[in-house]
Amino acid sequence: MVAKDLGSRIRRRGLMLVLSSPSGAGKSTIARNLLESDSSLELSVSVTTRPRRGSEIEGVHYHFRTMRDFERLRDSDALLEWAEVHGNCYATPREPAELALAEGRDMLFDIDWQGAQQLKEKMRADIVSIFILPPSMKELKARLKRRAEDQEAVIETRLKNARNEIEHWKEYDFVIVNDDLDRAFAEVRGIVVAERLRRDRRPGLFDFVSGLLDEKTG
Ligand code: 5GP
Repeated sequence: MVAKDLGSRIRRRGLMLVLSSPSGAGKSTIARNLLESDSSLELSVSVTTRPRRGSEIEGVHYHFRTMRDFERLRDSDALLEWAEVHGNCYATPREPAELALAEGRDMLFDIDWQGAQQLKEKMRADIVSIFILPPSMKELKARLKRRAEDQEAVIETRLKNARNEIEHWKEYDFVIVNDDLDRAFAEVRGIVVAERLRRDRRPGLFDFVSGLLDEKTG
């Protein structure tokens, strides 16, 4: 295992990285690459009432729940935010996110604009939000079709909803156009690296700097 550099060992608050985009803009691929390349980042696994796709694993991609169970979670305040997207309900479980934040761990939230708005209201200082745009609507449709895990009617609903999602682009801190996956990924990485270095996110700097200033140089 590679030793952590001194800078990253200085205590800091956790980062809540919110990624939103219309379906098919490449957000899931970017999120997966981020998680694979950065062991300090963990995924907030959402709860959903959507049926599981063939490639998805319970507890890894989502916690798949019935509408009844979803309502029970919502009514017991176990959800940090929730929204209806494409006719299904999606939500962020409260406990893992609050724990990560308290322990200074970074969490990735792959959620829509409604969820992003709710998280911002609750945890403004800890949120870094990124919106990913497709290069064109034509390309977006082609990507949805290539994915082909959804029925034709589902693809059409998602295309209609894409315009609505895109209208919220101005509510995000950063906006990336995904016309080249490698570049878009590098841009997201760059944002994460920079945001981790923000002074106001690093209370540990106070002790570090006072130690520096106390150090005898002979
Ligand atoms: P999909 O069904 O393709 O996995 O996700 C559909 C949309 O729901 C995506 O835009 C995704 O970001 C959003 N989504 C997934 N989980 C959550 C969540 O916990 N809360 C909210 N508000 N949206 C979510």
